[in-house]
Amino acid sequence: MTDTASDAVSLPTSPSTSPSLTLLGLGAMGAAFARAWLAAGYSLTVWNRTPGRAEALIAAGARPAASAAEAVAASPLVVTCLLDDASVGGALADTDLVGKDLVDLTTGTLSQARARAAWAEARGARFLSGGIMAVPPMIGVPEAGGYVLYSGSQDLFETHRTTLAAPAGTRFVGGNPGHAALQDVALLSGMYGMIAGAAHAFALVRGEKDISPAEFAPLLAGWVGAMSAVIPQIGQQLESGDYESGVTSSLAMQVAGAQTFLATAQDQNVSPELLTPVFDLMRRRAETGGGREGFAGMVDLLT
Ligand code: NDP
Repeated sequence: MTDTASDAVSLPTSPSTSPSLTLLGLGAMGAAFARAWLAAGYSLTVWNRTPGRAEALIAAGARPAASAAEAVAASPLVVTCLLDDASVGGALADTDLVGKDLVDLTTGTLSQARARAAWAEARGARFLSGGIMAVPPMIGVPEAGGYVLYSGSQDLFETHRTTLAAPAGTRFVGGNPGHAALQDVALLSGMYGMIAGAAHAFALVRGEKDISPAEFAPLLAGWVGAMSAVIPQIGQQLESGDYESGVTSSLAMQVAGAQTFLATAQDQNVSPELLTPVFDLMRRRAETGGGREGFAGMVDLLT
C-alpha cells in the first residue's frame, strides 16, 4: 500500500495540475465534494439527474451542464459520485469518454470496479476507482480525517493528485482497479463487527435500572478502542505464519470462558445470536490445534 496524502491533507491554495473538473452526482456525498472543490478555487462543472439539486452549488460558482454528455465534454477530469454502479453505466452511456480521466467515487464491489475500468478503457478513458472512507460532513474538513482509497491508473492519480486531495485525504492502493472497493468493504466489515459487539454489550446492561446506557457508552468505546491494538498483531501473524508468538490471551483460555458470556446473556434475557458465531469459530480453531494461538487462525477458517 502506498501512503500518499492521507496523513497530511491540505487544501490547495492555487490549483495547478487540473484547475477544472466535472462532477456527476450531487447527492449528499457528491454535493459535499462539490462544495470542497469550489471552496478550494476549482472551476467545477456539475450535472445531476434531478436538476434542482444543483441550485445551491450553482449559486456558489458551479457551472451547470444540461446533460451528462455536456458535463463530460466540459473537462478532461470527470468524477462520478452516484448511487451505485448501474447509475454510473446509465449516466455515462451516451457520453464521449475518449481522452478523459474518469474517477468513480461510487461505492461498489471489486468485480464491478474491475468491469467498470475495462468498460472505461474500451471507451478511450483512463480510470481510477475510489472508495470513500468518510461521511459527508468530513469532506473538505482535513482535521476530520476522512480519506479516499484509490486504485487503478496510477498515471491518472499522479496527474490529478492535487485536485483529488482538495476534498479529502488520498491513499493510492495499487493498479488493480478493484482493490480500493475491496479494501473499502473490508474496512466497513470490520466496523460492522465492532457494532455487533457494541449492540450485544448494550443489550446486556440495558435491563439494569442502575446502569445508564449513556454512562456505559464511554467505557465501551474506550475498551473497544484499547482492544483494537490486537489488529496489527493479527496482521503480522498472518504475514509471518507464526500464530503463537507473543500471544498472551490464548484461544484455549478464551474458549474456556465462553460459557460465562453465554450464561450472562441468558441471565439477562439477551439473545446470543451476535456472539455465538464468533465463539463457534474460536472453538473450532482451538479444537483443531489452535489452542495456543490468538485470533489469526480464525481467518484461516474463513478462507
Ligand atoms: P444520495 O442517495 O444522496 O445520492 C445519490 C446520487 O445518485 C444522486 O445524485 C442521484 O440523483 C444519483 N442517482 C441515483 N440513481 C441514478 C441513476 N439511475 N442515474 C443517474 N443518477 C442517479 O447518495 P450519496 O451522495 O450519499 O452517495 C453517493 C455514493 O457515495 C454512493 O455510492 C455511496 O455509497 C457513497 N458513499 C456515501 C457515503 C455517505 O455517508 N453518504 C459514505 C461513503 C460513500 P438524483 O438526485 O436524481 O436522485
